[in-house]
Amino acid sequence: MILLKANSELTNIFSRMLKTMDVNVVWTGNIVVLNNFLILSGKVRSLIFNFDNRKIITNVIELPDKEEDMEPVADNQTLANVLNMTLYAFGKWGSIRGLKVDKDYSQLNALFYAILKDMRIIPGYRDDNFRFYRDNIQMTFEEVVQAAMEEGKRKPQEATEEKQEEEPEEKGLGLWHNVRWSLTKATFHKSEISAYERKASRVGNNFYINGYQCPECARKLYMAIYPQGKEFPIETEEGRVYLARSYTCDNCNLFYTPRPGRLLREGDNYSMKFGGDRDAYEDYLELLGRNAERTSNCNFNEFASQRGKHAMPPIEEECADMEHMSEEELHNIEEKIDENFFPLMQAEPYREKIQELLKAKKEDKEEKKKTKKPEQETELVKSDSPQEESAGNSAKDSGAESTGQTYQHSDAESAGNSAQGSGSKNSLQDSDSESTKQTSPYGSDTDSTGKKEKKKGLFGKRNAKEKPEGTAFGKGQDVSTQRTGNPEDPNGIEAELEAEFAESNGTMSIKEKYDARMRKLDRMSMWQLRRLREQVKDDERLDWVDKEKYEKLLRQASYQKGAEEVRQKAEYAMTQSYAVIKRVMDEISQAECPELIKKEMLKDLGEVKKKRGQEEAANLIARVPENMTRSQYRTFREKLNQYDGEDISVYNEVLEGTRRLTEKREIAGMLKRAANSDRRGLMQMLTKLREDGFLPEQAEIAIKEIEGRVMAMDQKVIDKMCPNIPLMSFDEAASAYEKIEGGVFLPEIKTNTLEMIDKRLTKLKMDECGLLVEKLKDALSGRINDMERLHFYEARKVMRGDWEPREAQLTARALNTYAQERDRYEYPILICDSSARKDGRDGFILTPDHIFYNSMFSSEMIPIRSVTGIEGNTGLLSKGIYVKRGNGKKTKIPGGISAKELKEFGEVLDEFVSYLQEKPESRSIAYLSKEKHDVKCCYRCGYTYRGGNTCPKCGNQANQ
Ligand SMILES: [Zn+2]
Ligand SMILES: [Zn+2]
Repeated sequence: MILLKANSELTNIFSRMLKTMDVNVVWTGNIVVLNNFLILSGKVRSLIFNFDNRKIITNVIELPDKEEDMEPVADNQTLANVLNMTLYAFGKWGSIRGLKVDKDYSQLNALFYAILKDMRIIPGYRDDNFRFYRDNIQMTFEEVVQAAMEEGKRKPQEATEEKQEEEPEEKGLGLWHNVRWSLTKATFHKSEISAYERKASRVGNNFYINGYQCPECARKLYMAIYPQGKEFPIETEEGRVYLARSYTCDNCNLFYTPRPGRLLREGDNYSMKFGGDRDAYEDYLELLGRNAERTSNCNFNEFASQRGKHAMPPIEEECADMEHMSEEELHNIEEKIDENFFPLMQAEPYREKIQELLKAKKEDKEEKKKTKKPEQETELVKSDSPQEESAGNSAKDSGAESTGQTYQHSDAESAGNSAQGSGSKNSLQDSDSESTKQTSPYGSDTDSTGKKEKKKGLFGKRNAKEKPEGTAFGKGQDVSTQRTGNPEDPNGIEAELEAEFAESNGTMSIKEKYDARMRKLDRMSMWQLRRLREQVKDDERLDWVDKEKYEKLLRQASYQKGAEEVRQKAEYAMTQSYAVIKRVMDEISQAECPELIKKEMLKDLGEVKKKRGQEEAANLIARVPENMTRSQYRTFREKLNQYDGEDISVYNEVLEGTRRLTEKREIAGMLKRAANSDRRGLMQMLTKLREDGFLPEQAEIAIKEIEGRVMAMDQKVIDKMCPNIPLMSFDEAASAYEKIEGGVFLPEIKTNTLEMIDKRLTKLKMDECGLLVEKLKDALSGRINDMERLHFYEARKVMRGDWEPREAQLTARALNTYAQERDRYEYPILICDSSARKDGRDGFILTPDHIFYNSMFSSEMIPIRSVTGIEGNTGLLSKGIYVKRGNGKKTKIPGGISAKELKEFGEVLDEFVSYLQEKPESRSIAYLSKEKHDVKCCYRCGYTYRGGNTCPKCGNQANQ
């Protein structure tokens, strides 16, 4: 139970509600929250809101009312909002007499969502109840209120932290800069760098602390060196210059580099100053540092035209005659190397050599007996090689082992074939490599009895498929009589027979020949038996009695062979995997073999298979990870399915259970992300939920919620596009029209609502305005003393809402008097007031795009782009500020600047307007309002390019 003391806002709202409801409750101002009830505690009767069934009742209940137990709502806005939700919810349900809520359910959900989102609570407001969820778990209203109380305590602390955190994330654009370095004369002093400074001072980006001091603030500069060949090109007033070095002051946001052929100390430099625009400075710092290295470069900066023409004497030359140099000379070169006079990579070997030479000289001097032992090292290197060899060997071994399991690939027939030979298990593992040898064409195979025709009938179909049996076996094997690898006669029987037939000199009858064959039946393979059987059947020279006889013999032999094979196969399969057993069983059930043996074998195998299936399924399930991915699930599912002949319900359950859990987690994660997702992200989630094989019952809820979110989003967009037109202000209507007409704003698929774009543009332009104000102030300082008539638009203060009322008033008056033509996102930079009463009614306003001013009878505006010059004129009759324009017009604009500073003021303004004119296209609203650009125009320097978000010219990284 939570006891709350309403603040004045809530007291107001609920009191009014009680009044319109006209109920008999005298509210004490205390609120009690219990489970899903909110109770306005009354002196006698209390008012009870029930979130479970949308009912409001009054009742006499005793509630604690000790003041010290009451938690004041005070200025906890989150809590007040949560309590206020009650009115919307019950109002919409029609439970509060006299209160009508116009918003629909999705709008209300969106509203509640906004209130609760920081607490990670998701509202589920429907026409029959109002529920709350966190991490997909339902919570009570009491828990929501509790969370709101904590949130309210947390927020004020966080507010300041958050602000700091947010700044860098939503990096402003900074101002635009023509990234061209200007000639600068400055004096640089040099001082020692302490060890501490060397360690602790850091600006990063390959800039390292340097002894030179900043001419403006006297802090130490940081230097970046570009390796030879990677000198950094910049634009200067004198054209393109390749930098060997650049210096920066992290405090003043500026860069220095010496003019070509000079040293910084000589004072003849270029500078690139970013003033107060830290964003721009940091981007440029990163760009300048990107190719820098902690290296050396003996070159000076160079003009592009002279690049590479001043090759330094290479270190090779300098060190050419090293062996004969004096100790002194060697020390000199060593020092140069230490001072990074030469490229480090090239200099390093020489340094070693020099050190060696110096050492040698030293040793020579001291004692000449010492022996060196440089040979030993090479010995050590050699000893490594035997190890490598043995490693190679073992790799080979393991390779050989892995060929053992090839049985799976061989087909039944060839397996059967080979089984006959050795009778060992190994023969079943018919090696695949053999199959690459193709059956030879059998043109020469005809025997003397002219069986060509028959043979064709025998082999015609099967021949190409048959695998030759390369291994020699059987006692009849005679290498000399056998054509190697003859596929049709693997065990040499044919050859033997042929020899027999030949011996008889053609006296043997057909029958005798068959009889000879029959004598060898026990040695024939199954395949040979089958072939012979067909042969007998088809041979028209045999009468049916003989055929019958042979057939009988052959059948017997086949049975015997078949039984033998079946036994072997079964024996082999017993130790194999489930899949192998299953296949072997299939094979056996089709094999030609006495039924009895078949049955027996199949039964035995069946038992093993069952056991194996359980084992393997259990093993498989044991490997299911707790956090299974969807593809892992599919793999496991597929694997487990192969045991579907067995009773694997337990394993199915485990797998499905894990799947349910992982899916649940995945869905919960999705819903969490959904809170911050744009429309496209949500649509992707929906597709995934619908099509990626989620359990429907699990996906359903999430789909509904996300759909609701998308609907709310769309609704919001539509509301924005077609608002209640009669109620719109001129500004709103104009901007809505602009948005609709502009098209690019239409978030057809785009997710950003107009509101967000509007917010973004407002912020960008406000920021820009703030920076421009700083820049102008900076330019004026020291040149103009009398600032009374000058008013600056303090964008930051405006955004924070703490701008001085007097200034705000004056600005508002000026804007409303003569600058109503300005665009929606056009903010003033300077208001120069010339009104007699100093109230802003007369004068001129400078914005980034226009000068607005008023004359006696009308308001005028001059586009900045049309200005060719501004000057302050002090002539007796022509005193004032004059704006010259491209069309030759010269306009006097009002301004209360004193005569003695008019000229100076005109100059500053002239410079400033010139700067404004450099504004790149990327700063236009039309450009800014687009989310993506094919051709990018750098926000900073205006350089246009394609691809990437980083400007190749100035390094600005905020381009989109
Ligand atoms: Zn400085
Ligand atoms: Zn740029």
